[in-house]
Amino acid sequence: MMKNFVSAGLSILFFAATACGSGASSGKGGASSAGSGTADTTAAAASDATASTLTGGVDTASLPGGKVPPPSVILGRKEVPILCYHQIRDWKPTDSKVSKDYIMPPADLKAELKMLADSGYHTILPDQLYAYLTTGAALPVKPIMLTFDDTDEDQYQVAWPEMKKYGFRGVFFVMTVSLNRLPHYMSKEQVKELFDAGNVIGSHTWDHHNVRKYQGNDWAIQIDKPTKQLEAITGKPIRYFAYPFGLWNREALPQLRKRGFIAAFQLADKMDPTDPLMTVRRIIVGGGWSLKTFDAAIRRDFR
Ligand SMILES: [Zn+2]
Repeated sequence: MMKNFVSAGLSILFFAATACGSGASSGKGGASSAGSGTADTTAAAASDATASTLTGGVDTASLPGGKVPPPSVILGRKEVPILCYHQIRDWKPTDSKVSKDYIMPPADLKAELKMLADSGYHTILPDQLYAYLTTGAALPVKPIMLTFDDTDEDQYQVAWPEMKKYGFRGVFFVMTVSLNRLPHYMSKEQVKELFDAGNVIGSHTWDHHNVRKYQGNDWAIQIDKPTKQLEAITGKPIRYFAYPFGLWNREALPQLRKRGFIAAFQLADKMDPTDPLMTVRRIIVGGGWSLKTFDAAIRRDFR
């Protein structure tokens, strides 16, 4: 598959710019399932999987939480709300109804961040989440995580200045094919600046191909090379991953662990009972939501 990498990348870029989440967001608040269809209950018996199987080849001594407990422990912890944003710009007449779910008007984002700050929320980062989930480490009161997918430059130009006002930090999941494709996507320098300012940079593959379909060399193209590139930009290991379209399957989880990821983020589907850390839940904040809808979604979608 993927004989022509360049044209594949460009077509995916166009697609990703309009519909990253694969219809996972719904009119009733983005809580509908991304439909991975893999999180059945048959593997519940495997919830006693040991730390060694769950940490793959990664040196656990360097991890924020140390040893990984059985999945049942992680699944038993209260979820931290994690929000997912894509484009941040005003709607155009040509934007389809579906794509508007992935396009957050700047005024709406500003109002949402202000509401979070006014309500006493504190943004946390993946290392804190990981330590909390694996060891029960304390989190700030009213923790929340902000994540941004697809490398859109407006995340740097619009969201980041607004986040700084409130001392917020977030996670930027970068697809490396888009780096330096200005003006729509971030430059390496912008990614580095976000990282240096205390945000986390995660991987969102090379060009947004669905993880379920990888075979052979796809793992090197979509995962290994982008990780190396992001590590070259930040100078630090890349430990966190976000699934394109939120889609995953159970076969992908050990593959990602083997490649050094310690947690991965999907959308609103059920977490995998054998490896919840690799299927952490998020919701897409729909463009055009009222603050009331926004607040309700945060409370409702994370148990
Ligand atoms: Zn995406």
